[in-house]
Amino acid sequence: MDFNTLCIHGAENNTHSTGAISVPIYQSATFAHPGVGQSSGYDYSRLQNPTREYLEKCVAALERGVDALAFSTGMAAITAFMELFSIGDHIIASGDLYGGTVRLFENISRKNGLTFDFVDTSDIEGVKALIRLETKAIFVETPTNPMMQVTDIKAVAELAKAHNLLVAVDNTFLTPFYQLPLTLGADIVIHSGTKYLSGHNDTLAGFLVTNREDLSEKLRYIYKTTGACLSPFDSWLLIRGIKTLSLRMERQQENALKIAEWLTTQEKVRKVFYIGLKNHPGYEISTRQATGFGSMISFEVDTESTAKQILEGIQVILYAESLGGVETLITYPMLQTHADVPEEERLSRGINNCLLRMSVGIENVDDLIADLKQALQ
Ligand SMILES: *Cc1c(COP(=O)(O)O)cnc(C)c1O
Repeated sequence: MDFNTLCIHGAENNTHSTGAISVPIYQSATFAHPGVGQSSGYDYSRLQNPTREYLEKCVAALERGVDALAFSTGMAAITAFMELFSIGDHIIASGDLYGGTVRLFENISRKNGLTFDFVDTSDIEGVKALIRLETKAIFVETPTNPMMQVTDIKAVAELAKAHNLLVAVDNTFLTPFYQLPLTLGADIVIHSGTKYLSGHNDTLAGFLVTNREDLSEKLRYIYKTTGACLSPFDSWLLIRGIKTLSLRMERQQENALKIAEWLTTQEKVRKVFYIGLKNHPGYEISTRQATGFGSMISFEVDTESTAKQILEGIQVILYAESLGGVETLITYPMLQTHADVPEEERLSRGINNCLLRMSVGIENVDDLIADLKQALQ
């Protein structure tokens, strides 16, 4: 079935006996057994819930996986993923990751006995040089947050296969609408469902998706044991959000391209990081491995005071964390998403006091540009 049809109708028809078009919210913690040793297929909502299951099947189909697990947040999904590893295991990760993921790896996973190397995963030779006996996985975010570095997923997957390593790709920024990491050789796709999949800045969610039955089995065991599952109501919000995923992604990208081009003409803007601009170093790989560029833009202005002036001067656009929703938001990575990354590392990655990150929404693009213009004056 086509992607757009899957978004609307799910992987299976919603065959609820009432004929309800909207998937019912099964707000039940537990389920009665038809007889001794028998089950309706549902026993307890930490293990499975019909509303969540509908969502999980839909997301698995969208990502071309065999199973998707819906978590209460993106971080809960990544935390569960890390339970696949044991003391002494080594993981190679993209150098420019979501700040919360860095915090998890550095402060929780290390404490649990895992070791990490952070490297620019767009440099395959650099990744290769770090592989050792203990290495178990390569963790990739592409494009990265907030510097928009693009990694060649196929090249990483080929390298990983040769060394029997798992490849996990955080696909939050492009979503399966634009990028399908499992078809490029990844084993696991990760999402903060809070962002584009939900799309309305009204709920938190996370996903792990895999195309391997053995990984699905292990992850399901971790899932039912650790318990950070998505609630029935939040599952319903995700089902509802995904119905308009394609339309939102298209409009957001269209707006983002216009804004990125406009920003490049502004005197007070020094650099624009948008993978849809032809001079972006990841442009060429992006056109090969994805069908679009998404709508995340980072840009560097001339001074810290210009950055603050924008954040305080915008009237339509909101100064807020998060991304991927219908509302255009600007964040100040230095003070927000990446505040916990040590200063020296943060600066070496280009996250300085002049860098702003914008998630472009679906408003009228002329209104967005006019808002930026008046804030810049
Ligand atoms: C937001 C985000 C996360 C964390 O997800 P939450 O839903 O906020 O827990 C992970 N990765 C990326 C790329 C994100 O943008």
